[in-house]
Amino acid sequence: MPSGKLNIVPLGGLGEFGMNCMALRWGDDIIVVDAGLMFPEAELLGVDIVVPDISYLLENRKHVRAIILTHGHEDHIGALPWILSELNVPVWGTEFTLAYVEDRLDEHQLLDDADLREIRPGERFKIGPFTIHAIQVTHSLVDCVALAIHTPLGVVLHTGDFKVDPTPTERKGYTPSERSVRRKFDEVFSHTQRRLFISCFSSSIHRIKLAVDVAREHGRKVCFIGRSMVNSSEIAEDLGYIQIPEGLLIQPGEMKNYAPENVCVLISGTQGEPMSALSRAAVDNHKHAKIEKGDTVVLSSRIIPGNEKAIYRMVDHLFRREAHVIYDDGSYPPVHVSGHASQEELKLIINLVRPKYFVPIHGEYRQLKLHAELARTMHGAVGNVILIESGDVLEFDELGARKAGRVNIGRVCIDSGSRTDVVEDLVIKDRRHLSEDGFVLPIIAINKHTGRVETTPEIVTRGFNPGDNGLLERAREIVMETLEQSSDEEKADYGVIKEKIRADLKRYISKQTQRRPLIMPVILEI
Ligand SMILES: [Zn+2]
Ligand SMILES: [Zn+2]
Repeated sequence: MPSGKLNIVPLGGLGEFGMNCMALRWGDDIIVVDAGLMFPEAELLGVDIVVPDISYLLENRKHVRAIILTHGHEDHIGALPWILSELNVPVWGTEFTLAYVEDRLDEHQLLDDADLREIRPGERFKIGPFTIHAIQVTHSLVDCVALAIHTPLGVVLHTGDFKVDPTPTERKGYTPSERSVRRKFDEVFSHTQRRLFISCFSSSIHRIKLAVDVAREHGRKVCFIGRSMVNSSEIAEDLGYIQIPEGLLIQPGEMKNYAPENVCVLISGTQGEPMSALSRAAVDNHKHAKIEKGDTVVLSSRIIPGNEKAIYRMVDHLFRREAHVIYDDGSYPPVHVSGHASQEELKLIINLVRPKYFVPIHGEYRQLKLHAELARTMHGAVGNVILIESGDVLEFDELGARKAGRVNIGRVCIDSGSRTDVVEDLVIKDRRHLSEDGFVLPIIAINKHTGRVETTPEIVTRGFNPGDNGLLERAREIVMETLEQSSDEEKADYGVIKEKIRADLKRYISKQTQRRPLIMPVILEI
């Protein structure tokens, strides 16, 4: 057994849903598996995406050899634009995964400088001391791989997403096959009299292919609407995952030329995203996608926790348009099946691999814990079960494995409309503050020659209800009193005078209203 240490350092994804990113280190060589994002919780106001803090990689910049991607889902590739703009290293992925990555990098003008290298499933490639064997797996996306990473100490099997169920012991048995969805689609197509809209995750290429195939069998033309749906179907067609026969596809503008019963629309927006094509169609605000009485809308996806409100709001609007809406309600055959493994499949993998060490990855703490407990029951199939979280360093050497300290990790919030504008905690705190209590702007006009206050201060409020019992009048008086009680020197220093006004008003308003609006005095020199 060679002397040396292998470190496994999860930088995200262990203890949270999303941001999957894990570093493996042997001596002076580091490789990174996946670079995912996380969609923000509602309290991160205005934040578009959350990506992992990569200080560990930046501190070890000269040792990082490559990023290797298991598949093209956002929670595995979404942080790449951010990471590559900080640390440009070669990125390895399968053909389909790289097609998605190219799209994303192009959006951020990072494509020209990127070094993308294709993985062919089944083949091995070497990066420093690591030999990597990519193993094809099934998942809700095509061209997904698990990685068997050969190190001088032994093989690390990173399963990617095929077997990692977000709720392992809560879902028993086996996940139904994608084929069971075909039965449901057949049923829906046979019963639908008018126009049929199908929405699924744009990355669910199997599902798009299924919809296209069934539409063709039922004599309907196919129309793609929504940017992500159009992009995805183009990539899938280019790479040969979907075959669309001549004449089957129609452009959105051509829909009006066809009878409703001859059209099937594949539309993006299954999670009720406000600007998505389906959300806009639901409120009759889409140029081409007109949903009319008697049309059918199929949501062929799961409801991602946190999106319930947005989805049901959209479904309500669809009902108002008098459309039939079919979504995953647990009935059989299902309109959607999961791309993740269930309990029995997780056990199957453990039995096949018979690992010396087992480390649950991908999910919130209780999910990791449940997965660990499941593994612990499999005596004989698993050696040690080790539960670690993002930031823990798991160290292996010839003597065994142990937790060996922690590295800095965290979440970096990226603002709406950009992939590289970091939002500091303070900004989010201010946004939360504004959203709850609003703001108050006292405006004070000071004559710049005499230093005197010219008129009674104005007070503007937004998102804050001053009521009608004279709160604002009294607030104005308080500003005046603060000014009167201040020396000429204080009044000449706007920083000081603003702070005094802010403190006095804050005390008064919070006493009267129990609210703490953001108070920002403004001084106008006239
Ligand atoms: Zn996935
Ligand atoms: Zn995932």
